[in-house]
Amino acid sequence: MKSKLTVVMYHYVRDLANSRYPGIKGLDLSLFLKQIEFFKENYTIVSVEQVTECIETKRNLPEKSLLLTFDDGYIDHYINVFPVLMENSISGLFSVSGKVLAESKPLNVNKIHYVLAEAGEHRKQELLSKVYKLLDYYRGTEFDYPSNEELYAKLAVANRFDDKDIIFIKRILQAELPERARDLITDDLFREYIPIPESTFSRELYMNFDQMKLMKKSGMHFAVHGYEHYWLEKLNDQEMQKDITMSLDVLEGIIDRERWTMVYPYGSYSREVLSYIADNGCNLGFTTAVRFADIQADAPLLLPRLDTNDFPPKSDNYLKIT
Ligand SMILES: [Zn+2]
Repeated sequence: MKSKLTVVMYHYVRDLANSRYPGIKGLDLSLFLKQIEFFKENYTIVSVEQVTECIETKRNLPEKSLLLTFDDGYIDHYINVFPVLMENSISGLFSVSGKVLAESKPLNVNKIHYVLAEAGEHRKQELLSKVYKLLDYYRGTEFDYPSNEELYAKLAVANRFDDKDIIFIKRILQAELPERARDLITDDLFREYIPIPESTFSRELYMNFDQMKLMKKSGMHFAVHGYEHYWLEKLNDQEMQKDITMSLDVLEGIIDRERWTMVYPYGSYSREVLSYIADNGCNLGFTTAVRFADIQADAPLLLPRLDTNDFPPKSDNYLKIT
């Protein structure tokens, strides 16, 4: 079948053992290099432009096509990934949230990753009790949300990569609580576990505009990834449209406003999101649904992706996914 496309999603890619926060959940650089070798031997790595062209002209993709996607604009992608792609003459898709570029502020989602990395498995219960205390502290002030027990019962459901305690912490701080409560609790935890200024942290964590321009000039493709990295389906129309417009504005000069690519933060979208981005020039979109894409059968704005952990040398999960 020549409409089948394997899309692989990456986040942190770094030399974990020698990094400042070795507990961060990422792909070790040595494994990334091995994985690229595996892909080169077994697939044809294609670019976003090739995919778009095949969709638009209804032409076939090469046999066993594969697209590499890198989320969140980490400096890892500039320092570690970009040279490897260049060396192998392959292109990748990189998505960056507007806020990190426009304001040099870390995203909440990343603050949570680093808090979890610092707490680690051995201090997880301590972190959980701190989260409970903060929930109690802010409950009933300007916010009203359910009891800790109710929240835990609703949200603590393990997924493919995280246990239920970690999922609980991620879900309340990424989506469940009112936004200001999420910000306050995340900031309290972040200050305690990562005692460096946010602007310093942000500059160390993300690539900057000049680096992105160089990557673009060298054949890399950039995608919109929201402004605040919100769950877009949870926003009202006005908030959603504002978040997307702001993210388009920040990427001026990096993306083509008439034909741009969307990578939905957390894979979250709605009918309203789809129609708004389609009306505003988006022609390709990637979710986090775990399956192989089929560019003839799938809607171009809803192409699914597998995770780097689904492939060798991390695992053989891709063989089990239909
Ligand atoms: Zn993201």
